[in-house]
Amino acid sequence: MTGLPQQMALEGVPRSVTIHEVGPRDGLQNETAVLATATKADLVERLAHAGLTSIEVTAFVRPERVPQLADAEALVAELGRRQLPASVRLSALVPNVEGLSRALGAGLHEVAVFTSATESFAKANLNRSREESLAMIAAVLAEAERSGTAVRGYVSMCFGDPWEGAVQVAEVVSVGRRLVDLGCYELSLGDTIGVATPGHVVAMIEALAEVGVGPERLAVHFHDTYGQALANTLAALQCGVSSVDASAGGLGGCPFAKSATGNLATEDLVFQLEGLGVQTGVHLDELVSTSAWMAEQLGRPSASRVVRAMTKEDAR
Ligand code: MG
Repeated sequence: MTGLPQQMALEGVPRSVTIHEVGPRDGLQNETAVLATATKADLVERLAHAGLTSIEVTAFVRPERVPQLADAEALVAELGRRQLPASVRLSALVPNVEGLSRALGAGLHEVAVFTSATESFAKANLNRSREESLAMIAAVLAEAERSGTAVRGYVSMCFGDPWEGAVQVAEVVSVGRRLVDLGCYELSLGDTIGVATPGHVVAMIEALAEVGVGPERLAVHFHDTYGQALANTLAALQCGVSSVDASAGGLGGCPFAKSATGNLATEDLVFQLEGLGVQTGVHLDELVSTSAWMAEQLGRPSASRVVRAMTKEDAR
């Protein structure tokens, strides 16, 4: 599709955006299929060669809790044997200090921690209160500082919770501020159930700025469950956010809805950013062919509109 999308800049949007690719972790963790380690390494390698520079590859969690990611050590070791561009930063999610030491032992230098904006999700997903979760994160950050490890912080359920419904902006601001105070270099605001709309996104970013967490410290993590992910992303960009999480091919689905549409698809994001004339460094064609290949591995079509549109065109 040469020459498309046409580039038309939009005032107030950053000139370059860093995409944090979460497909291999957040995506595959929520897929029912369990892929071979070599296939996952192929995925990461292809994503890196497509120009993605920040890739969350796995999670160092208990294998019995997340069997899809039970091969974390083996995967990172395999990636060490692959030829990845020097600019690529690999990271992994760690729930606690034990997970951190496993990640460092595997050779990673960057990790992510996660907590919930709501008490209900902390209890259901983390099996502890928000305060207990923050205490575990504090321990991870203290240990990470000693080893010079960069830590990214995820806050889930920022815009709605499957048990509590509405989530107050002030609650998210309070948890987010705590994560930054503990030492997270970036805060990723997660719309875990995909219910955010653009006004809510702007209100959240403005409220965080009021407590000293400016858009340069923020990333956004939208889910497309209700079709709002790209509108929300654009609203965040217009507030000055320049770090966006996305999942190649929309891998992941949504565990809290019957929809197959979960994470914002990286291709859909790249298409919009290309149209806006924003630099991402990502080659859309290579990314699309990677996600088309991954859909074959998983035995189902990609959730990404751009992957569907571009692979259909290729088949003509
Ligand atoms: Mg997600």
